[in-house]
Parts: sequence; structure tokens; C-alpha cells
Amino acid sequence: MADHNFDVVILGGGSGGYAAALRSAQLGMSVALIEKDKLGGTCLHRGCIPTKALLHSGEIADNTREAAKFGINATLNGIDMPAVNKYRDGIVDRLFKGLTGLIGSKDITVVSGEGRLVGPKTIQVGSDNYTGANIVLATGSYSRTLPGLEIAGRVITSEHALQLNFVPQKVIVLGGGVIGVEFASIWRSFGAEVTIIEGLSHLVPNEDEAISKGLERAFKKRGIDFKLGVRFSGVVQSETGVAVSLEDGTVLEAELMLVAVGRGPNATGFGYEEQGINMDRGFVLTNERLQTNQPGVYAAGDIVPGLQLAHRGFQQGIFIAEEIAGLAPIAIDESGIPKVTYCEPEIASVGLSEVQARELHGADNVSTYEYNLGGNGKTQILGSAGFIKLVRKNDGPILGIHMIGSRVGEQIGEAQLIVNWEAYPEDVASLIHAHPTLNEAMGEAHLALAGKPLHAHA
Ligand SMILES: Cc1cc2nc3c(=O)[nH]c(=O)nc-3n(C[C@H](O)[C@H](O)[C@H](O)COP(=O)(O)OP(=O)(O)OC[C@H]3O[C@@H](n4cnc5c(N)ncnc54)[C@H](O)[C@@H]3O)c2cc1C
Repeated sequence: MADHNFDVVILGGGSGGYAAALRSAQLGMSVALIEKDKLGGTCLHRGCIPTKALLHSGEIADNTREAAKFGINATLNGIDMPAVNKYRDGIVDRLFKGLTGLIGSKDITVVSGEGRLVGPKTIQVGSDNYTGANIVLATGSYSRTLPGLEIAGRVITSEHALQLNFVPQKVIVLGGGVIGVEFASIWRSFGAEVTIIEGLSHLVPNEDEAISKGLERAFKKRGIDFKLGVRFSGVVQSETGVAVSLEDGTVLEAELMLVAVGRGPNATGFGYEEQGINMDRGFVLTNERLQTNQPGVYAAGDIVPGLQLAHRGFQQGIFIAEEIAGLAPIAIDESGIPKVTYCEPEIASVGLSEVQARELHGADNVSTYEYNLGGNGKTQILGSAGFIKLVRKNDGPILGIHMIGSRVGEQIGEAQLIVNWEAYPEDVASLIHAHPTLNEAMGEAHLALAGKPLHAHA
């Protein structure tokens, strides 16, 4: 048994953990980063990056299918899934190499193995103890399922879906949230018949309702089927497929069912409860300084209740390192975290939805404007459609921006500056947006809301 002492000991080398490690090292602290699998965690190996690579392959398949529309003679001869996976793995491998190199170049001790909190500030890995003046818990999340629904055989999670080396002909996606609609989009682009089952009344139910409705229209056009407001009741597997029953008596048949009903915190079994850390339904509770109820023990990423997004984890990791170093960083405003869903069409949003804004500021104190991308030259060139919805406080700042359309994810940068810097529509209207870009739709929407529409009727 060996004992090692550090300023900061971090459990989990995903987005939250490695960001905390890098920033702590930058600030001159000694750091141990404990990871049982691969640095980069879910986002790099099983989440953000591999799914976005598949979505890009899907976009190329769609473009090829529609090439004639743009005057190009091309035929889609099929999807070579092993080759798609090779392209995807190449990206993950390159980023993994880069990340490992970056962390290796800093004064960070990477410890391989599963860690367990065995004292207030001590994590045991094998027979070694790592004690930190500060501890950061960042053990991430796992794919949840429903009570009684076993993940096995043809009933899979996103982790399994990423490993498939074939395109299912027919697939059911249980859950119309971010992960569900992204996989539905991928498989549809690859030629599968897809049905999404969502118990709530809309797809992407955490988005402004106008966006959900926009996605439903777009998915219908793409031939993606969905059943809304109806709950799953059971699944029977056979040699060749699954028969999925819904509470309304419908039975749907497919080759596979993807369970995409959310992600649970991976925070039990590592000694957290035993060390007296306050938890709620498996999540680690923190205050706004990301400190648990135990002094000097912090938590970051998906184990902390809130949006489960990689960039939230990065920001929390940076915050914790700066807090430990005594820099007193400004608390993270969760309502200002940008969100992008990378299905086709993409969805991007930041700030309050219309309903949230009216609840918070009073129903009559909020106005909205929807700029239809039909008036945007670049959208026409791409053959896409969609809109940007602005939510503003009357005579006040923009409170929320909600977008749907091809490539709108790339617009989130300006949107988040507008919302987080509490810009007025008049401020944005006076800034010049380049023509012809998708981005100028952001300018046009603000021009219209400021009362001086250019390429818009109102
Ligand atoms: C399919 C999918 C797509 C996604 N797409 C996006 C996206 O496009 N954009 C986005 O922002 N987010 C996306 N996410 C979410 C994103 O991946 C997570 O929010 C992010 O990875 C959370 O970071 P984390 O550090 O909390 O946890 P993780 O990344 O899960 O990292 C936790 C790490 O801790 C390690 N670990 C756990 N327990 C121990 C232990 N006891 N000892 C040692 N090591 C341990 C794990 O091996 C893991 O590497 C996606 C997720 C999925 C599943």
C-alpha cells in the first residue's frame, strides 16, 4: 500500500474531470487524474464525437440521394457501415491521441484503474491511496432503461448502437429526446425505416414547443415516423426482430429497438454515500460553487443534476479548479448553457423558452418573433428550411433564442453571446451580418424585432 498526496485528486477522466485537471495544472497545483477506462470519457468515445461523425456520414448519404436536385449526377449505391465506422473511429482516435498528448504534456499524474472514495479526501485505486487537499468527483453517467426493460439482444442502448456494423432495415427508438432523435436521424439517412416512441406530447420536449413542432414537421417530411403521448408497455424478442407494444394497444415490429430514455448518474458503488456525501436519486448534490456537503469535495459533469452536456462539464471542471485556487470565479448560470441537437434539421437554443419567459417575467411582459429561414439566401441554396425564434423581455433584453434548420448548430455562438450578454434586439440589429450566410438570419431576426425588418414581412 502506497500513499500519494496531491493538491487535487480527480475521479473520472471525462469532460468534467479532465477539464478540472488541465485547469488545476495550469494554476500550478499538483494533480492526480484517476480513470478506469479511457481519458475523454463518454463524450469522446461513446457520445458527442462518434455520433456527430455518423450524422455527417448521414448528411453525405442524403446529399448523394438528392444530388440531382442540385444538377449533379450521382447515385447512392449503399452504406458501407464498416467503412463508416472506420471513418468515425479515425476521428475518435486522433482526438484521443491529442487529448492524451495534451494531458501527458502537463504536470498531471494519470492513474489507470477504478477509484473508490475510502476516506473524506482519499481515493483508493488497487492498493494505492491518493489523498487530495481537494477531491473532484466526475464519474459521469450511463444509459438508463425503464423498470423491467432488460437491455439485451435486439434491445440496445446508444453504446451498442454505435457498435453496429450494419444498417437495420427497421428500427424503433424509444425516447424522443436528444439522443433518440439523433439516432433516428442517422438511421433514416442511412435508409432505415424509423419509428420514435415518446411518452410526452412532443419530440425534444425540453425545447420551446415551436421547435418541437418544427422538428415533427421536418421528420414527417423525411419519413421518420413517431408516436407521441403514448407509453411503451413491453417488448418481445424473436430470432429476427422485436415486437414492441404500446399502452394504447399498438404493436410495432422492427429489427432492433434503441432505448434512449435518458442517462442516469454513475455515482453509486464508489464510496460516496459511505463518506456522507449528500445524494438525491443517485445524483451528487452540490451548491452553486459545485461543492458537496463535505468540505473540499467537489463534483462536476453528469453526476450533478442539470443539463448533461460536455461543455457544461468542461466549464464546471474549470470553475472548480479556479475555486480551489482561490480565484472566486463567477458561478455558472445554468440557464445560459447553449444546447445543440445535431439531427437533420439541427436544433440550437439558449436561454428561456417562450413559456418559461412568460412564467418568469409575466405573460404580458414578453414578446416573440419568428424569422422564417425561407427568406435566407443560404438556406435556399442548401435546400433547407426552418426558423429562428427570439424571445425578448418587452423593452428589455433577448431572453432566449431557438433555432431549427440545417447547420443552425453553428449559429449558437452568436446566440449565446446575445443571451448571456443580455443584448437588446436594437444592439444586435446595428451589427452587420455577412451576406449570404445562414448567420445573417440572426441579424434579420433582430432587425425585425427592433422594428426595422429588411428581408421579412413584419
Ligand atoms: C450518444 C451520446 C451523445 C452525446 N452527444 C453530446 C453532444 O453532442 N454534445 C454534448 O455536449 N454532450 C453530448 N453527450 C453528453 C456528454 O457525453 C456528457 O455530458 C459528458 O461526457 C459528461 O462528462 P462527465 O465528465 O460528467 O462524464 P463522462 O464523460 O461519462 O466521464 C466519466 C469518466 O469517469 C470514469 N469513471 C467512472 N467511474 C470511475 C471510477 N470509479 N474510477 C475511475 N474512473 C471512473 C469513466 O470511465 C469515464 O471515463 C452525449 C452523450 C451520449 C451518450
